[in-house]
Amino acid sequence: MPRKIAYGANAASEFQYPENSLVITTTTPDIYEKWLNYMGIKKYEIYDKVTPDPAIETIEEIKRKYEGKQISAYIGLGGGSSMDVCKYLGKLTGIPKILIPTTFGTGAEMTTYAVVSFDHKKKLLQDEAFLADAAIVDPYYLPGTPFNIMRNSACDALAQASEGYDSKLGNPFTKLFCKEAFDILENAIMNDKHDLLPYGAMLSGIGFGNSSTTLGHALSYAFSNEGVPHGYSLSSCTTVAHKFNKSAYYQRFKKTCQKLKFERLTLKQSLDEAADVIMPDRGHLDNNPIEVTKQDIVNCLDEIVNKNPLQ
Ligand SMILES: [Zn+2]
Repeated sequence: MPRKIAYGANAASEFQYPENSLVITTTTPDIYEKWLNYMGIKKYEIYDKVTPDPAIETIEEIKRKYEGKQISAYIGLGGGSSMDVCKYLGKLTGIPKILIPTTFGTGAEMTTYAVVSFDHKKKLLQDEAFLADAAIVDPYYLPGTPFNIMRNSACDALAQASEGYDSKLGNPFTKLFCKEAFDILENAIMNDKHDLLPYGAMLSGIGFGNSSTTLGHALSYAFSNEGVPHGYSLSSCTTVAHKFNKSAYYQRFKKTCQKLKFERLTLKQSLDEAADVIMPDRGHLDNNPIEVTKQDIVNCLDEIVNKNPLQ
């Protein structure tokens, strides 16, 4: 876990930010200027050209651009992409990083994972050097989040909590956080208490971040490589994976996806081609509670695209 975790209302406005920080964000000035004002941050540089699924070239460009500028810390302010860029930059330069999620789902502020694109293919990386020096989780950023982003993020957090619970790498510590995260997120969605999402996502990050995600996430990359948002693809993928694994979370996960009105997924490539892309993803598949063959993957994909698993 990060050495410093600040959580709750006003956490981001009460934090003391080092001077000459580089703020990295995916949002536009009309939004982030309001945020920076709330945070009371002074004397900073800003890089606002991060796009979703950041490429390694973008990260190297930022590194070059600010070399010699004595940046004291990176502040990742935004969705998973802003935080992933900070994590990778921090590993390259050794400069401390402060991560502030604004869409609440990946739990990335708590984990040693980063997703970076190489040659237009998303790659999940893990490195102790990716861990934040400080994570700030403040529900201030939640209002105004578009419904689509909110539901995709919530679905990601739910998938991570439940896959993390079932992971072979799980232990009583990770299960404690995954179980609590799922309970909170489920309550937030089923009872429209969206202000609980940031806390649930944060606990999910601690839980799965110290175990792993599994088959649901492995399946989802076939769809995200074709442009489907990560959280959206998990709605069907994790549902089918939970069914395959006979997970205790199968019905509960499916019900929250129904409540969020996710629709069925399509795939351009053949099921066989997609299975060939998924099979080498040992980081997810080896931690799945049950062994998975290529035929199992084809069957899961068939259920996802040809039968509606959320019905
Ligand atoms: Zn995820």
